[in-house]
Amino acid sequence: VHGNVTASLNLERGSVLLPSLSDSFNRRFSYLRLSVTDRCQFQCNYCLPSGYAKSTDAQPELSLTEIQNGVAALADLGVQKVRLTGGEPLLRGDIVEIVHAVSRVPGIDEVAMTTNGVRFSVLASALREAGLHSVNISVDSLRPERFASICGRSSLSETLSAVELALSLGFKRVKVNAVLLRDINDDELPMYMQWIKDRPIVVRFIELMETADNREFFVKHHLSGADLMQKLSNAGWSPRSRNRLDGPAHEYFAPGYLGSVGVISAYSHGFCQSCNRVRLTSRGELRTCLFGEQTHSLRAWLKAPDQKAALQDEIRRHFLDKAPSHRLAERSYGNVRHLAEMGG
Ligand code: SAM
Ligand code: SF4
Repeated sequence: VHGNVTASLNLERGSVLLPSLSDSFNRRFSYLRLSVTDRCQFQCNYCLPSGYAKSTDAQPELSLTEIQNGVAALADLGVQKVRLTGGEPLLRGDIVEIVHAVSRVPGIDEVAMTTNGVRFSVLASALREAGLHSVNISVDSLRPERFASICGRSSLSETLSAVELALSLGFKRVKVNAVLLRDINDDELPMYMQWIKDRPIVVRFIELMETADNREFFVKHHLSGADLMQKLSNAGWSPRSRNRLDGPAHEYFAPGYLGSVGVISAYSHGFCQSCNRVRLTSRGELRTCLFGEQTHSLRAWLKAPDQKAALQDEIRRHFLDKAPSHRLAERSYGNVRHLAEMGG
């Protein structure tokens, strides 16, 4: 059976009510991860160990108009939340305009961003005013030398200031991402706990994912998220109850702590069952699965708003071919070189 098309109807296209975007396994896709650039000034050892290199045959980045058209088409199909990511999204000169445009698309009720935080202090107020609701800042270590050796930049204090600023500006949610790395930062749980005792931050530990560019690194430094969940239980933290519509993070809380801890483990059983994500790369390619074998260029339909119906048909068609799950456990990561390409 191809999707439960009668269950949820969205905005009208002409006189026809549009069914939600869904796949053959009855999953609904309401969350767009939009990479606005694949450029980055960091060299995270698990992501871009040699730094950003422009590919010679790369298409130009999506323009503001193309982004607007893409988001509007997806919003009609039931997408309600958009995360702007990259590469480093704050390297886009027009990032404030992008936030402003995306947050005003009818049907979009949440705009979030994932960033390394470097340009955040300059842009934060304008982003908040433009309509950014929540922000995830990557902090892979709380120890300055380690942070520098992981990310290739001695800028932990700048990143921590970005987190404090986000808290003070009243963003709806402030989250911190840390990739869990065996023998690199796996002893830091107590430090993160201390840090979030009096701060309403969700720290999310992300299990390292294998890509074409980090194969050897992955073998050395992958650590199962289950190990961390065990440590959290041992330290008296309790898992929050989950339902089918929850994201991939397993969240833990403890009495006396304002913050909470999430564990995102792509290798755990059931990760794909609750998938609700659509991914669009900065070059206009649709990815129906983070670790899929294929990307589908939507560029031809993004240029003008009158292409919306054709764009929606194209997107729908590709989702009907979405596989039930990725095959990371078999060490198959599709055609992914690194996550800076499409924003994780
Ligand atoms: N540059 C921004 C940043 O680092 O927050 C946004 C883009 S980055 C690709 C998005 C998230 O993916 C970051 O939290 C990063 O740590 C995470 N990430 C990148 N490569 C990863 C990998 N191979 N495994 C797990 N997480 C990864
Ligand atoms: Fe850049 Fe983010 Fe990748 Fe680090 S994880 S290299 S900050 S895109």
